[in-house]
Amino acid sequence: MAEIVQINACDITCEFEMEISKKIKEFWIGTSYPGTDKPQCSYEESYLEILGEVPILITAPHAVPHDRGEDKLKEQDDNTYLLVMEICKNTNGNGLIALKPLADPNKLSTSLRKINPPVWKGTKEVSFFLEAERVVKSRNIEFLLDIHGMADSYEDSAVVGTNGAKGKDLWADKLKAHLRQNGVKTSIDFTRTLVGKRHDFSGGDFVRNIFIPGLQVEIERTHRKCNDIQASTGWPKSYLAFYKSCFRKEMDLYKLEVFKQEQSRTNTDSSKWDTNLSQI
Ligand SMILES: [Zn+2]
Repeated sequence: MAEIVQINACDITCEFEMEISKKIKEFWIGTSYPGTDKPQCSYEESYLEILGEVPILITAPHAVPHDRGEDKLKEQDDNTYLLVMEICKNTNGNGLIALKPLADPNKLSTSLRKINPPVWKGTKEVSFFLEAERVVKSRNIEFLLDIHGMADSYEDSAVVGTNGAKGKDLWADKLKAHLRQNGVKTSIDFTRTLVGKRHDFSGGDFVRNIFIPGLQVEIERTHRKCNDIQASTGWPKSYLAFYKSCFRKEMDLYKLEVFKQEQSRTNTDSSKWDTNLSQI
């Protein structure tokens, strides 16, 4: 059983964010990490679950190092947990954040590891996915936004991933447009390196497998950075402005859209998304 820490979105304070930050940073590794954190067969799963009133779920599965079935863990997407907490706080949304290293729900290469093979075979067996599915069902979540980090070596500052995601046409263009309006150069599904080489985003197993509409958003480090000195007196203003202006507005648009859909909806069963999936 996974250990779950719960908090209401409206109860998240700066002190609480600092406390979570301290816990999570104990596990952080760098790109040149020698790999003493060996992959395990299974993990002591621990998550922060944020409870909100608005039926959206914001996730940060890569807040900590994660196991992709390869011979060492992949480093974390720094500070994505902060984005999730801040978006939840500002939209009264639900959130799920990994607090300890875990099996990656997003990209698994289980055949690569010959020694100490993992017990999970695919996304749907990974604990983070199962917890997210539980939250989606028990809290009637209608939309998932999966937050990730992206290197700073690309032309764009954010990429919205729609790979197989349900409801993608409804949200991807709007999110891109809104991020762009706020000065964040954003593209959908691919970007280019600084020398113009095309880079496709091929991940997204998590968003693809969950049965509600969802998008994966990759955000470059510049828009996620936050140093400890600034943190002790509150998060940097520019950082706060970024998610407030981008995601808050996007979630307001989302709520409006859901309201409109509610007006014309006859079938309230969640299987409606399966019908949509077969059309994509
Ligand atoms: Zn990631």
